[in-house]
Amino acid sequence: MVLLHPVRGLPASITPELVAGLCDRVVSSTSDTSTTIAVFTGEPYADLPRSTPDDVVRAVEHARKAQSAWAATDIGERLAVLRRFHRLVLRRQDLVLDLIQAETGKARRHAFEESLEPALTAGYYLRKGTRTLRPRRREGMVPGFVRTVELRQPKGVVGIISPWNYPFALGISDTLPALLAGNAVVFKPDTQTALSPLYGVELLYEAGLPEGVLQPVLGEGPVVGTAVVENVDYVGFTGSTRTGRDVARRAGARLVGCSLELGGKNPMIVLEDADLDRAAELAVPAAFANSGQVCMCTERLYVHAAVYERFLSRFLERVAALRQANRYDFAADVGSLTSARQLEAVSRHVADAKAKGATVLAGGRARPDLGPFCYEPTVLADVTEDMLCAADETFGPVVSVYPVSGEEEAITLANTGDYGLNASVFTGDTARGRRVAARLRVGMVSVNDAFIAGYGSMDSPMGGMGQSGLGRRHGAEGLLKYTEAQTVAVQRLALFPPPSWVPYRPFGKLMKGLIGVLRRARVR
Ligand code: NAD
Repeated sequence: MVLLHPVRGLPASITPELVAGLCDRVVSSTSDTSTTIAVFTGEPYADLPRSTPDDVVRAVEHARKAQSAWAATDIGERLAVLRRFHRLVLRRQDLVLDLIQAETGKARRHAFEESLEPALTAGYYLRKGTRTLRPRRREGMVPGFVRTVELRQPKGVVGIISPWNYPFALGISDTLPALLAGNAVVFKPDTQTALSPLYGVELLYEAGLPEGVLQPVLGEGPVVGTAVVENVDYVGFTGSTRTGRDVARRAGARLVGCSLELGGKNPMIVLEDADLDRAAELAVPAAFANSGQVCMCTERLYVHAAVYERFLSRFLERVAALRQANRYDFAADVGSLTSARQLEAVSRHVADAKAKGATVLAGGRARPDLGPFCYEPTVLADVTEDMLCAADETFGPVVSVYPVSGEEEAITLANTGDYGLNASVFTGDTARGRRVAARLRVGMVSVNDAFIAGYGSMDSPMGGMGQSGLGRRHGAEGLLKYTEAQTVAVQRLALFPPPSWVPYRPFGKLMKGLIGVLRRARVR
């Protein structure tokens, strides 16, 4: 509930009044708090309220009350909220960046990219939302006699549960289409990274969202997150595969739907005809954006043997030039990991790889001199299947490089493992890039790019295959998943069943004939 002052180096924009105002929105009936840290220094940053499972029940009740009026508004009114929100996010961007950096420890350039996503999402649904949600004429049972329309009804109360790595972008961007579809939302961000998404909630209310339609709750995932899943009508979850399974099991038991955006172990393929400078240039953000804490980050780099050495020298040169620092300005290319837990996980993967014979080509160590959770961008070679970092998601600044004999081997290796989130292919031949992409078992492939091209293509669905998830965000699917399809069919002539004075045998004959005619008509 309070900002713990003074926190060394915290931007002046983050005031106790701001923090208190954001926390006021949280549905919480206890005096229990959890302390978050300012990641750059590791010092306690703010005490945030905690919700109980009963608070979640209350939040869902309040949201349900507000939802029917919200769903009854004209879509134009809902779009107007998104339009004003879009403007506000861009206008208040500096504060958004300060909040994101303080609680995640990422470099300002990565906070900048994160801050744009809700604006992009709002902009996309402002353009496409009305058309996607509008009633659609469907072929009636007997055209002319039955007139059928497909409507899209809101689910009711949607639960959005989001992780700490892109707290502002993921939480708010997934909330926007749920609201546009006429739902109310109960929103649970991660506790360490709650203030930037709570500011997003504040901006939505400032943009004119009616009171009660968006209810934030805070607390431990296994307690408060579980309570959200147990009470809402649909769950939009982003997080680890392990938690995703639990969410799916609980949602399944209640027969409510869920979408799951989960982990990845993403491959990049560099073919022998690739522009090596471009591939090396883009492999850097692919592997090290947000210190590798991006679900789409490249953790496996398969390079054609014919260009392996040339690619590697270009890549390592660029990795060596990265500026790592904990600063609230744009001078750093790489910032910090977000938590001690993440630092421990990354250190464990690299130590295990080293102990089992991997070669460290760059990095490979923590940098406590830069900040308590800083870890150097790390490139490993000679990684073998028995190493933790071979198949498990590291979720840190660690990429393994492998030479491959050609396209076939690259595809086979890229398709190994349980995940299927994202991949990239570098080639001088775009048609070849498309052919390789079609053979990869992942939800998204960027050709001659890391992941921005794919992720930023908002009109196309984004999500994972295999253990990387169920369902999609972005595009029509990212909006329609928050709706129930409802068929409304009007019989214009009382033909079925036939009126009582019509003998059934000739009616049956007529029907048989009609079905034949319809089949032929529909084939044409
Ligand atoms: P996590 O699964 O530990 O937590 C995610 C969210 O779920 C948090 O808000 C947490 O409090 C909550 N939670 C925890 N246990 C819960 C439970 N039993 N029931 C309901 N909610 C619960 O994940 P994380 O460590 O915060 O995030 C990192 C993971 O997220 C990585 O695996 C990363 O790849 C993945 N991720 C995926 C995407 C994507 O779009 N596919 C995007 C970002 C992150």
